[in-house]
Amino acid sequence: MDKTIGIFGGGQLGRMMAQAALPLNIQCTFFEASTDCPSAVLGQVISSKAENGLQDFINSADVFSLEFENTPLTDVDVLTKQKELHPPRQALAIAQRRLSEKALFDELGIPVAPYRAVDSLESLTQVVAELGLPIVLKTVMGGYDGKGQFVLRSEDQIEQAWAELAPAGSLIAESFVTFSREVSIIAVRGQNGDVKTWPLAENHHHHGILSHSIVPAPNSADLQPVAQDYITRLLNHLNYVGVLTLELFVTDKGLYANEMAPRVHNSGHWSIEGAICSQFENHIRAVAGLPLGSTDVVRPTVMVNIIGKHPKSEDVLALNGAHLHLYNKTEREGRKIGHITLMPNDSAELTTLCRQLAKILPEPLALTQDMNI
Ligand code: AMP
Repeated sequence: MDKTIGIFGGGQLGRMMAQAALPLNIQCTFFEASTDCPSAVLGQVISSKAENGLQDFINSADVFSLEFENTPLTDVDVLTKQKELHPPRQALAIAQRRLSEKALFDELGIPVAPYRAVDSLESLTQVVAELGLPIVLKTVMGGYDGKGQFVLRSEDQIEQAWAELAPAGSLIAESFVTFSREVSIIAVRGQNGDVKTWPLAENHHHHGILSHSIVPAPNSADLQPVAQDYITRLLNHLNYVGVLTLELFVTDKGLYANEMAPRVHNSGHWSIEGAICSQFENHIRAVAGLPLGSTDVVRPTVMVNIIGKHPKSEDVLALNGAHLHLYNKTEREGRKIGHITLMPNDSAELTTLCRQLAKILPEPLALTQDMNI
């Protein structure tokens, strides 16, 4: 092997990074609480619970990255005294705190919904008066998949919202954005400062969890250069190396940023088959200091998450052009355990494939509702 990359985390993102790394003669190691994680079949897992685990992990690789944005900064600080981490610590520190993230978007001229810090019941009452309703109250740290959020629609809910979220730490209130759809842009920056961007993905959620992404996002020709400009500002400002994701709302006043993820992203899984170079391969290339690959689209693609329960593999693979990715995870309600990539020739074939897929999936509701089938 030419090089070893150590990855904080060992879930499906690490697994798909390592799959992309192997043909380049790059080995991955992982730092994860459970050694029985989705990445384990692809490289050594060093348990974060083991005595000396962190130092063993640091010794296990030449250069480091992450698949888990809540990687403790204390661990990162021990690492960066000895070895390089891509993306940079600053990107991670900012992405871990919604208030810092919004402040950075503001500083770089990336539009965001009006927001305020909330640190007491009184300040929440004050913020409701200033911003008006509805507002979305969120925990500053640690929320994901819509967890740690409360949509406040009337003043009678102020106390309830405070009681539910305050125990989780500091809070941020954002004006509710009326959006027509949610999109994400994913880009990669190399060690020489090269930036490449994939097309916008249109993302559909069900119960706060990504259900499926359509790429390129339909009718997004005007939005693409704007989103590309926003993410390039972030990448250059942070002197970023690796893949970065920016989630955006499409509104009648243009794009508003919601949040960034300093890592490969679920809405980029389509790129394994749908782009010349996937988000995983380009991330590995960037971290290893190699030239970046083309982010051009091979074919319009729909990526459907498998959530909670497995479909029968033989049923999925019988669909024309479908690819199946399973993460070797046990079934649990609301858990992402795999995804399916569809590459239809046209919108008629897309509807047919989605109809067929909806019959196969144990939980087809989100797909059928969004696709109107
Ligand atoms: P987040 O955890 O910030 O990604 O939010 C999860 C989901 O909540 C988003 O995908 C949106 O659907 C919704 N959401 C978050 N913030 C807002 C907002 N300010 N206005 C309207 N919807 C929001």
